[in-house]
Amino acid sequence: MSGSPRANPYRDTWAGTIDAGRAGDAVRVAGWVHRRRDHGGLIFIDLRDRSGLVQLVFHPDTSGEAFAAAERLRSEHVISVAGEVVRREPGNVNPNLPTGEVEIRVAAMDVLAESDTPPFPIDEDTPVDETLRLRHRALDLRRQGMRDAMVLRHRVVQTMREVLDEAGFLEMETPILTRSTPEGARDFLVPSRLQPGSWYALPQSPQLFKQLLMVAGYERYYQIARCFRDEDLRADRQPEFTQLDVEMSFVEEDDVIETMERVMSRVFEVGGVAVPPAPWRRMGYDEAMLRFGSDRPDTRFGLEIVDISDALRGSEFKVFESVLAEGGVVRAINAGVRDLSRSELEGLNEVVQRHGGKAVAWAFAEDGGWRSPIAKFFSAEQIDAASRALGAAPGDLILFVADRPQVAAEALGGLRLELGRRFGLVDEGTHDVLWVVDFPMFAYDEETGRYDALHHPFTAPVGSFEGVGGPASLRSRAYDLVVDGWELGGGSIRIHTPEVQQQVFQAIGLGEEEAQARFGFLLDALRFGAPPHGGIAMGLDRIVALLAGYDSIRDVIAFPKTASGSDPLTGAPAPVDARQLRELGLRSVVERS
Ligand code: ASP
Repeated sequence: MSGSPRANPYRDTWAGTIDAGRAGDAVRVAGWVHRRRDHGGLIFIDLRDRSGLVQLVFHPDTSGEAFAAAERLRSEHVISVAGEVVRREPGNVNPNLPTGEVEIRVAAMDVLAESDTPPFPIDEDTPVDETLRLRHRALDLRRQGMRDAMVLRHRVVQTMREVLDEAGFLEMETPILTRSTPEGARDFLVPSRLQPGSWYALPQSPQLFKQLLMVAGYERYYQIARCFRDEDLRADRQPEFTQLDVEMSFVEEDDVIETMERVMSRVFEVGGVAVPPAPWRRMGYDEAMLRFGSDRPDTRFGLEIVDISDALRGSEFKVFESVLAEGGVVRAINAGVRDLSRSELEGLNEVVQRHGGKAVAWAFAEDGGWRSPIAKFFSAEQIDAASRALGAAPGDLILFVADRPQVAAEALGGLRLELGRRFGLVDEGTHDVLWVVDFPMFAYDEETGRYDALHHPFTAPVGSFEGVGGPASLRSRAYDLVVDGWELGGGSIRIHTPEVQQQVFQAIGLGEEEAQARFGFLLDALRFGAPPHGGIAMGLDRIVALLAGYDSIRDVIAFPKTASGSDPLTGAPAPVDARQLRELGLRSVVERS
């Protein structure tokens, strides 16, 4: 056999790479008819392959048969052509195209496939109904925006792999058919045919497996992992999503954080997004909640929240007083000099209500006082103290919420984001990155009267279960990476002794028996020498969307689901026939209309 590589019959060159240096070369290219123009007796075709576009010219005299065939070409037909690379006339150079200085003078063409008229233009960046795009995803993925996003996604994943490989991490897989893991969402279940009545759960994350890999001595693990969470519908959620999942042994918070800073700095660089250089600053959970009303604060703009409980305590205003008497707070935002009408101010009530608050009060700072329906309830000293705390100058609009601390924080946090958007305070071109740390270990759920782990119950607590305040006073060794108000990732140092793990299970109301039944395999493993370990998971879809400048993660996932969890392409989820159900030992109780 000859040692020379086999010549590909369709192409010997990528279309988008042909530049003036190739002038005079005979080339063969293959791809799709992107656009066609008939001009002065010549036919021009923009040929598209994954690498980009190149212009083809068909002359009636020199292209012969190919010219006749080119007359019948339509958008998205698939062709392979051979010809010579020639320089364009200076007047015809297209500086916007990498191949814009040249064109291919076609000598011969094969039409490899024809295309029906596409349901939307492939060659333009026009807005197209999303369901239609998803229904014809193979065509949508041909469009430049999608192609760029897919290439970027690939680069991001490769970068993560490179950095982690250099740092000695092993890429390992964990099962998709597994047992329920508690990340706090509902599981997707898969019935077992071989054991009727038993179910697999799709993993909400590889959390327990990666911890087992640490117990197993693998020290540094990562995976580009698919996770499944059957959560309620929200605009930008997918029932399945991808995360970079990482776990390390013999580490503390700083080790995981530094590793992830190395990965993410390179990822931002590859994505061409300028962020402040690492190490990124850290902010305690309490401070984030107080100043920004969120554990994923958007720190790109001010409008910070200020607690003015002490300044206003003891006033004639019953609403504030009764809240303060019950251990609540009065907090406010100085929204700056704003010209809002009464009805616009009234409209802000709806904003805080959406975020769990009851109402918002307002005042305009003036020389020596406030213009506000509630001004009369406060002494001059109280107004002065509150204004000073808020840094309010004449003309500034002050917005108040009084409630329990968590509610006031979240209501003002929501209001702050809304005002930031409305007043155009966010420069979309800038990015801010920070770590949120020192989370509470548990959140008390009023409805169930139980504690829930704020991260997950494998996170190591700080403090004592028996101390004053009980579980509510515990902090956790968790950390979240927050960029522009998005939680891009989060993780923690884990519990590595069975005793502490049991305590946490107990605190969240998981009895010994149930804990053993559900997580016995973890508790067992912890009894056989588990090293101190910790890790993190980063949301890949959100990272790529941020780098690509898209709001929706659906624009960076090749085959996403709609907001209602369905797939217009395949029609999933779909009913199955009765025989399939019978094989699984199942009967549907849902009447289908
Ligand atoms: N398993 C967690 C999650 O998916 C991340 C982690 O703690 O590493 O959110």
